[in-house]
Amino acid sequence: MCCCKPESMSSASNCHSRENKQPPLIIMSDVFRILPVNLASSKELRDYDVLNLPRSHAVPVLDTLQRPLRDLRISVTDRCNLRCTYCMPREVFDEHHEFLPRSELLSFEEITRLAKLFIPLGVQKIRLTGGEPLLRRGIERLVEMLAKLHTREGKPLEVALTTNGVALAQKAQSLKDAGLSRISISLDGLSDETFRRMSDSDVPVGIVLDGIAAAQRVGLHPVKINMVVQRGVNEHEILPMAEHFRHSGIVLRFIEYMDVGSSNGWRLGEVVNARAILDRIAMRYPLQQVDANYSGEVAERWHYADGGGEIGVIASVTQVFCQDCTRARFATDGKLYTCLFAAHGVDLREPLRLGASDTVLTNLIAQRWARRDDRYSELRATASKPAPEKKIEMSYIGG
Ligand code: SF4
Repeated sequence: MCCCKPESMSSASNCHSRENKQPPLIIMSDVFRILPVNLASSKELRDYDVLNLPRSHAVPVLDTLQRPLRDLRISVTDRCNLRCTYCMPREVFDEHHEFLPRSELLSFEEITRLAKLFIPLGVQKIRLTGGEPLLRRGIERLVEMLAKLHTREGKPLEVALTTNGVALAQKAQSLKDAGLSRISISLDGLSDETFRRMSDSDVPVGIVLDGIAAAQRVGLHPVKINMVVQRGVNEHEILPMAEHFRHSGIVLRFIEYMDVGSSNGWRLGEVVNARAILDRIAMRYPLQQVDANYSGEVAERWHYADGGGEIGVIASVTQVFCQDCTRARFATDGKLYTCLFAAHGVDLREPLRLGASDTVLTNLIAQRWARRDDRYSELRATASKPAPEKKIEMSYIGG
């Protein structure tokens, strides 16, 4: 099915082209022994080390639905300086909430070592997230370390970052200097009133707008703005946001309000669907759809017919894209998740700190991906009941 999508060089669409250009993909579950995930002692690690795992550093990996592993999102902190109601509601993330202690966070060296192991398995792009990643002290050093990595094809790895923009005005230049390729900034409204309501904070929206301007000034490209649209809360900001970012060179993306995590009390009735958003804008500014930039791109792209630039919609609830989902995430404490809506992750930190070799760690990652069958949004859309378990919070796993 995916092979036939015209615009997608898709993950799976590569089934035609990859024969000529890339080494054959191998389904790892056919190759590797299944290793237990809980590693309790260094003796066990030694046992894993002697396993004969041929070519584990050379083959990209496919999951059970034939989806390759292309993108890695790394959450560098579970803390944030805002309390957006859909992500970190203050009732849950209040002064009593226990964030992870520093000792439980992966160090930059640990993150870089793990990131390096994902590349032979197919990863081409890394996005740093949180929580708010700019709250992690010295984040530029991590960007610099990751930006030195290369893809399997020998191209520099693309390092991106998603931020709420509050500290961006101070950090934009140093992030650019460190090698950051691209940046996405969350902004859910232009008026102070809406912004404060959505972010449940006293931060004036001007601080974020200054951060966006700084990102453009230092040459981060592209700069994208992500706006989560929630019915009755900020939908009135759709047109003002569109107007503000037209002709700016910035890509504004509207995101359907999602049921991430277990604490935001999501209801389907609060979703403004992507079609309605597009209709609202197109009534004022006619739009033309354009092809995806790359395989598995989550945003549908539209251009203003008058040359005013580009917008996107991410219809994460009404038009699901699980079939092209090539994203793995590792959380702040080093647990690997293969879906934004997962309830469980595979602990990479423990074996790493117990002294596991690259081969062992690579195979833990590959094995998890090879077993992956996640398609939460598809199941939700077809009314099959997704797992009722408590989902991981977005602030911990990264959006
Ligand atoms: S629901 Fe999970 S598998 Fe589907 S697109 Fe989202 S993260 Fe990917």
